[in-house]
Amino acid sequence: MLTVDGLRKRYGQTEVVRGASFEVPAGQCFGLLGPNGAGKTTTLRCCLGLTVPDGGSIELAGLPVPAQARAARALVGVVPQFDNLDPDFTVAENLVVFGRYFGLSQREASARVERLLEFAGLSDKADAHIESLSGGMKRRLTLARAMINDPPILFLDEPTTGLDPQARHLVWDRLKMLLTEGRTIILTTHFMDEAQRLCDRVAIMDHGVIIAEDGPRRLIEREIEPTVIEVYGEGLEAWFAAHGRRLAERAELAGDTAFCYCHDPEPLMRSLEGDPELRALHRAANLEDVFLKLTGRDLRD
Ligand code: ADP
Repeated sequence: MLTVDGLRKRYGQTEVVRGASFEVPAGQCFGLLGPNGAGKTTTLRCCLGLTVPDGGSIELAGLPVPAQARAARALVGVVPQFDNLDPDFTVAENLVVFGRYFGLSQREASARVERLLEFAGLSDKADAHIESLSGGMKRRLTLARAMINDPPILFLDEPTTGLDPQARHLVWDRLKMLLTEGRTIILTTHFMDEAQRLCDRVAIMDHGVIIAEDGPRRLIEREIEPTVIEVYGEGLEAWFAAHGRRLAERAELAGDTAFCYCHDPEPLMRSLEGDPELRALHRAANLEDVFLKLTGRDLRD
């Protein structure tokens, strides 16, 4: 559904996408992950034909982009990072008006609205005004709006940023429904739990380059020790210098927490016994650990 090969994009002196390649087969959910400024949005914009690349090739839904971007975009639903619903229209009207952009007749658009409102859990809000909706409702309406042309492919830019946990779960639930229907989803997210939960494959991008790509489970198995012990509390630095650094296969002190990565947690746990001031959280490594290992813990703007 999407093939990106050697994509390059330069802004001024800076090449912000430096030879990115990936493929998304039909029916899969693909997550593009990376710190701020990594080049994710630029990559997605190139894929949609909204930004013209300097090099490489893109094929979306079998069509070359940007050459046939308009035809390709007719097969794509886009959920932007910030909801841009029209406040002058009701919930239902927002869907109808958007359908008209895609060339649907008033009647066709209206016929789809009922189904989409049901999909979004907004059936009783058809006549509500946009400002009366919660953040979660707006997100679901934006998702429903992206579905007005019944697209086989969806692009979502940070679909659950700013939502509370209940609202996030509802959005995940709807995205899973769309995947079950055989649609293809391409998303960016800063939430590693979201990527781990939804994505068949993830690509981690940094400084315009894809530095790792695989299924989330495989990536964790491949890139990182299976167990993490997080240690915090009074006397952390002394314990870290004497034991943590030595007993872990990889260890990092970040703020007031030590992250100790290992295969066998026993020696580390034993070294903490008899030290009531130190607390330890023993857990399985996750995608966030991989992300931080590969992209570092330094803040990005
Ligand atoms: P991400 O989505 O991963 O945060 P972006 O693709 O938005 O990254 O940005 C990558 C880099 O390109 C950043 O340094 C950003 O400032 C720069 N950039 C993005 N769009 C433009 C633009 N239109 N003009 C100049 N620089 C841009």
